[in-house]
Amino acid sequence: MTPATPDRAALHAFLERHGKFLLTTHVNPDGDAIGSEIAMARWLRSRGKSVRILNDSPTPVAFGWLTADDAIEMYDEALCEQRFSEADALVVLDTSNRQRIGRLSRHLDRHVVAIAIVDHHATHDGFGQVNVVEPELASTASLVFELMREAGVTPDVTAAEALYVGLFTDTGNFRYSNTDARAHRMAATLVEAGVDPSDLTSRVHATAPAGRIRFFGESLAALQVLEGGRLVVVEAAPEQFARHGLVGADTEGLVDMPRAIAGVEVVALFSEVEPGKVKVSLRSTGNVTIDAVCARFGGGGHPHAAGVQMRGTREDVKAKILPEIVRLLDAHAESLAGGDG
Ligand code: 5GP
Ligand code: MN
Repeated sequence: MTPATPDRAALHAFLERHGKFLLTTHVNPDGDAIGSEIAMARWLRSRGKSVRILNDSPTPVAFGWLTADDAIEMYDEALCEQRFSEADALVVLDTSNRQRIGRLSRHLDRHVVAIAIVDHHATHDGFGQVNVVEPELASTASLVFELMREAGVTPDVTAAEALYVGLFTDTGNFRYSNTDARAHRMAATLVEAGVDPSDLTSRVHATAPAGRIRFFGESLAALQVLEGGRLVVVEAAPEQFARHGLVGADTEGLVDMPRAIAGVEVVALFSEVEPGKVKVSLRSTGNVTIDAVCARFGGGGHPHAAGVQMRGTREDVKAKILPEIVRLLDAHAESLAGGDG
């Protein structure tokens, strides 16, 4: 199969040309980040390449099973130094923002290593020699999947599961607006390759300790409905994380639950893991695009799912973010009303 774009062709040449790869992804990796790394590692190894995976942050428990045969190392300065000196190429998956790879970014200037980026985020610096960035794709795993097909590689069951995890987590279990025919066709191909959707969903979703569900319950019980029902705000306090023995990644899925409320257009989660450090997660049900709000404060994401980390108390951060969302909702309502009044 011929590559769909010149960038993809350049990436295939890049992968052919190099022999010792280091793969990485963004801080606080999600299912798409981990799934894309595992699939890419298996693809490259099947081609006789040497591959290491090293991330800034630990792998969430929900995806730990994916790493049984393909270890993902966690950042340690000396280890990272060693991995960079062994590698001749770095492949960055699911982000094209240098800062988002966390502490690995400090090592980039010290090593002559070729960089390729494989991503689907619209906001990017494209710091690679080769940058394949396709925002029209639902997940980075979708891109890895299509690249594998172009290379004539059939994913084995583990790679197929990894790709499916990337796709189904980034589409919110095939519910977000990025769920299109291409996503479903990919899913069908992966099921034919051996993925069991029901079993795999349990492996990813039935991994929570009871405390995490209690924590969701507390935060959801206190949710605020604003702007006549169009905006829902959820918060998580440092005290809750401490009391339930949870970490920042344990909020995964919380911001999606209020989407079930009739009439909601935007859900905002303000998660304060440590006092003074707030992770903002925004979701739009489709009427307004919220990535620009996050980008304004140094974050980013997709039109309907975006995030940013900010300093300050939850009240400080809410005072910055919420007026921006209200402005978007008002502008949208005006455009529906005709926009010229
Ligand atoms: P979440 O709210 O689930 O953490 O993130 C939703 C999406 O927003 C992710 O897919 C990711 O692309 C993006 N995102 C989250 N946090 C950040 C951030 O701090 N910086 C950037 N650039 N993107 C983020
Ligand atoms: Mn992604």
